[in-house]
Amino acid sequence: MCPREDDTFRSTRYGGHPPACTCVACCEKRRAGISTGYTRKKSSSGTPVWFWTVIAVVVIAVLLALVF
Ligand SMILES: [Zn+2]
Repeated sequence: MCPREDDTFRSTRYGGHPPACTCVACCEKRRAGISTGYTRKKSSSGTPVWFWTVIAVVVIAVLLALVF
């Protein structure tokens, strides 16, 4: 027996739970303040540390060049 088409879509797109899922597990998650649905990995979001390191080095270099 094959899975239904919408079930397959839901599991691939949302990992089994759409954003508006009302199952018990999602209600518990929502009550705990955890976002449900598709989210990016935390490591891939936001600005990486090396970017700020490069910015800091450049700013320090410019300041030194202006002072001296
Ligand atoms: Zn759910």
